Amino acid sequence: MYSPSISGVAANSESGSRIFVYEVEGMRQSQATDQTSNPIRRSGSVLISVPYDRMNQEMRRIARMGGKIISIRPSNSAPETNGKVAPEAGLQSQKSGEKTKPMTQAKEKVQVPVNLYKPANPYIGKCISTEELVREGGEGTVRHVKFDISGGKLHYLEGQSIGIIPDGTDKNGKPHKIRLYSIASTRHGDDVDDKTVSLCVRRLEYKSPETGEKVFGVCSTFLTGLQPGDDVKITGPVGKEMLLPDDEEATIIMMATGTGIAPFRAYLWRMFKENNPDYKFRGLAWLFFGVAYTPNILYKEELEQLQREFPDNFRLTYAISREQKNAEGGKMYIQNRIQENADELWGLVQKPNTHTYICGLKGMEGGIDEGMSAASSKFGVDWAGYQKQLKKEHRWHVETY
Ligand code: FAD
Repeated sequence: MYSPSISGVAANSESGSRIFVYEVEGMRQSQATDQTSNPIRRSGSVLISVPYDRMNQEMRRIARMGGKIISIRPSNSAPETNGKVAPEAGLQSQKSGEKTKPMTQAKEKVQVPVNLYKPANPYIGKCISTEELVREGGEGTVRHVKFDISGGKLHYLEGQSIGIIPDGTDKNGKPHKIRLYSIASTRHGDDVDDKTVSLCVRRLEYKSPETGEKVFGVCSTFLTGLQPGDDVKITGPVGKEMLLPDDEEATIIMMATGTGIAPFRAYLWRMFKENNPDYKFRGLAWLFFGVAYTPNILYKEELEQLQREFPDNFRLTYAISREQKNAEGGKMYIQNRIQENADELWGLVQKPNTHTYICGLKGMEGGIDEGMSAASSKFGVDWAGYQKQLKKEHRWHVETY
């Protein structure tokens, strides 16, 4: 089990020695002082200083004592005045009504590129390569498609999307509308030469509810059918919701279903595969990845290679719905994995430098919320309110489609 105190990274990093201040209600002072240093009483609540590597342990102790944590913040941001500690940075309870400023944000980096190419005047990229990602025995078609963008001003950041205008016209003879696709490569591209952008595209295929005939999606069929040398109309980039924080010691929790892996591939390649002078990731990245069958695990070999190479910094948890069983004997969906790991995840999301990202099928959020809600309620915390605050602090990011 991951524990901040034993993670190779955290224990050896500055964060290992950081102190956080918990504001706790419902504990008598004698209970609070029992095992901790420096508690300070203020009206109705107690402030407890906790070293980073004891955060989870302390949370459990507080819960056992019937206490309720109403805020957590780094101690260095809390100037002490007349024996009281001013509450500010970090997550605060809704009840306190105090304005908050997070310790880290997936902040809008300077110059997030947006809409460099609009639908009326798209960039014409060229398909360089296309590769099937679903292996034998898997379901459907998903392709990794790489485009040359070296001829214009198109550039992007991890977590952004581009728009594609498929060739041809719709049933009214009008040009097709754009469809958005999450970028699956880092800002430097798969060849690390700043000249390409890659997508991970599933060919949409369904039975028409009216006729029962097989229908293929327009743009996904266009993209998965491209051959090297083909031209493609590209717009964007767009999106600021899924940007990575600058903090190299952050905890990044990723929850993906199917092609929802695309932005996370970009994050992981940036964290572990590229040797960027301006970003040396030393935190924890934890990917939950839900697919139907093992051959549908996209980028499987590379992900597992990363796990082998960076066991202290990268955790990989699959939910393979048609092959694995959950605790009740049903299909193993991503939400079941979230529920299995909910206590640990709950501990992690409370750290001020943890960011959670959800990407993939619409509807996957419900089960995730159920798991988090079950875990937080053990500590007397209402998940809906807590999540709202996480979103306000730009630490809970969702892109589903
Ligand atoms: P269309 O021809 O547009 O058909 C879609 C329509 O078909 C639906 O609107 C619906 O009316 C109908 N339909 C679909 N399924 C059914 C069904 N089961 N029963 C009945 N009718 C149905 N896709 C990816 O593959 N990879 C990505 O990385 C990716 N990233 C995205 C990022 C964002 C921000 C968004 C918004 C979407 C993303 N998508 C991604 C989805 C993508 O934009 C397209 O929606 C998808 O490829 C389908 O487009 P299409 O043109 O092939 O289908």
